[in-house]
Amino acid sequence: MKTIPFIDLKAQYQALREPIQNQIQKVLEHGQFIMGPEVEEIERRLSQFAGVKHTIACASGTDAAVMAMMAMGIGPGDEVICPAFSFIATAETVVLVGATPVYVDVDPTTYNLDVHALEKALSPKTKAIQPVSLYGQVADMDEINAFADKHGLMVLEDAAQSFGATYKGKRSCNLSTAAVTSFFPAKPLGCYGDGGAAFTNDDQLADAMKEVRNHGQKTRYYHTRIGINGRLDTLQCAILLPKLERFPWELEQRSRRADRFNKAFAELESWGVQLPKLGTERTSAWAQYTLQVPKRDAFQKGMQEKGIPTAVHYPRTMPDQPAYQELGRTLNIEVSRRLADAVVSLPLYPDMTDDIQDYIVDGVLNHFAKESNR
Ligand SMILES: *Cc1c(COP(=O)(O)O)cnc(C)c1O
Repeated sequence: MKTIPFIDLKAQYQALREPIQNQIQKVLEHGQFIMGPEVEEIERRLSQFAGVKHTIACASGTDAAVMAMMAMGIGPGDEVICPAFSFIATAETVVLVGATPVYVDVDPTTYNLDVHALEKALSPKTKAIQPVSLYGQVADMDEINAFADKHGLMVLEDAAQSFGATYKGKRSCNLSTAAVTSFFPAKPLGCYGDGGAAFTNDDQLADAMKEVRNHGQKTRYYHTRIGINGRLDTLQCAILLPKLERFPWELEQRSRRADRFNKAFAELESWGVQLPKLGTERTSAWAQYTLQVPKRDAFQKGMQEKGIPTAVHYPRTMPDQPAYQELGRTLNIEVSRRLADAVVSLPLYPDMTDDIQDYIVDGVLNHFAKESNR
């Protein structure tokens, strides 16, 4: 039996070993561990890559969202509309700034915020919409932005899983008032620890986010806002530099692997398996390759026996989490709850070989062939 990693970061490191070690060495020599020159350099390169005016590197995706919301002036008494089906940080950050999450349902094919649900979620307290680009695919941003414009709302893209994705020829993180991403090691663009970034084309908002990142200080020891310590270590920025250079190739590999899975699994749709689907005019960063399967427990157990790791993103909706049940407003989230019981992700990473992918494909196909013979 093979053992396949869910994500293979070792293979990626082998490919980038020398430039990464050189970058780390450089930082160790100059010793500017906080806000060193590599911070500005990666911010500039990330801005270039995403086509956005400002990038503010920070300590995690979670900090990026807190920072963005603090800079946007979102706080107690304000409501933020978000999809019920996401990683907890989406709602957590709204609660952390003192605002109220309002949960709407997601689209059953793209798993992203259902724009038809926005009207019902709206209240006089609504201040912003926080769509999530789940599994690497951007939500229906044109419709979301149009709704936001009509009602004077801000839009914050939770792009923790979608850095590198495109929507109508533009990159994720360049599609709304502001956006945030994560460089957690397992995300499409990961560093070697926690990290993240916020993005905006708005000069004032960028200045505000930079201040919030550094204890709300405008100039040294002069604090014009309440802030946090949200800085990203120089070392992590140095590691991201060579990783970003390889990133376009990695995005292509992710797409290629996803297409290959989709072709191999096409016949499974008649067994009640739903394959990932992209909305029109967009590409995914393929943070996850996620299926909906009947009898998920049996599927995961069958895969485990073959040495194929699987993961569930996510087994519960956010408002159904114990700490969140009393917080926020929840609209109809039927689809989100159904997804929480049916989704399962397979390994997908840029350095996956044909051999490994073929082994996974055979394992999955054999499982359903056996199921259907019972
Ligand atoms: C990972 C993730 C975050 C949080 O990012 P961290 O860097 O882990 O703090 C937020 N939202 C979503 C959708 C995520 O997947």
